[in-house]
Amino acid sequence: MTSRRDFLRVSGGCVAHVLLSSSCASASARRRWTSPLHPTVSATPFAHLDAIGPETWALISTPLAGDRTTFGNGGIIAGRDGVIAVEGFYRPAGATWLAERCRELTGRWPTHVVLTHYHLDHAGGVQGYARDGSALPMVRSTDTTRTLALGGGPVAPPKDAALERAFADVVIVDATRTSRIDLGNRVVELVPLRGHSASDLAIVDEDAGITFAGDLLWNGMFPNFVDATPSQLIASMTQLSKRAGHAFVPGHGGVAGRVRVARYLDLLNDLGAHAGRERAAGRTAVEAAATYRVPALLGDWMASTSGLERAMTAWWREQ
Ligand SMILES: [Zn+2]
Repeated sequence: MTSRRDFLRVSGGCVAHVLLSSSCASASARRRWTSPLHPTVSATPFAHLDAIGPETWALISTPLAGDRTTFGNGGIIAGRDGVIAVEGFYRPAGATWLAERCRELTGRWPTHVVLTHYHLDHAGGVQGYARDGSALPMVRSTDTTRTLALGGGPVAPPKDAALERAFADVVIVDATRTSRIDLGNRVVELVPLRGHSASDLAIVDEDAGITFAGDLLWNGMFPNFVDATPSQLIASMTQLSKRAGHAFVPGHGGVAGRVRVARYLDLLNDLGAHAGRERAAGRTAVEAAATYRVPALLGDWMASTSGLERAMTAWWREQ
């Protein structure tokens, strides 16, 4: 029998969401979705790795081509005294691929891994960073992320002994204030936020102008609200968007600049305004979703019926 949790993981998780959203998009929208803005230094059927700043690379997943070794984005931030790998990815082979590229590009295996949130497609493969089957780099997440990943969250990875071992030694990131990882010649901030999940982390290098936003930001695809709290999501993205000159690595889709981030926030606010009007008129979330259209001036966001229903349901949940 399928439990509610299994059902949500399969039907509401980001993997199903991405596939469903893209299935109603045009071929050109699907192609544009992950097209590189920056030079690609390595490519595989499931992802390309792009140089987005000094000693910084974004892994942009390309799951629509069919290979789902990685499903969400991540990357590498290298410094003199250490190298951070961002995200645990969907499958261990995805984390291993990033670690191997890290060694090619920097001469080193990642020394730190930072998880933005607990969802299956971002944390499920973290054990793949174990070098030659031995010890993992230092894995960091918030306490909430660890708890939810190990079985409390609706879109958590399936139970797995290797994943549990990977989380056993997690270094807990303070979820109440910004913390820092000093890499010697650069300092990387871990900014605790909320809204896509109960605990999200953004990974920011102010000097390099880089923000890894996790699933707080989606680019060119309608965001997944299955686990979202819209008011927190809008507050978190409003805060991140103030870093106007940054290259933003979203959880899904290509790297975004200021204009794409602004359009995303416009989309969130437009959804909120629609939800407010429809609720005031006495309609249900499903009825509200049926009458919503993404404004044409915001571009193509590959919105599916179920994605819109999950969005409106998230707004209704907050009331
Ligand atoms: Zn997510």
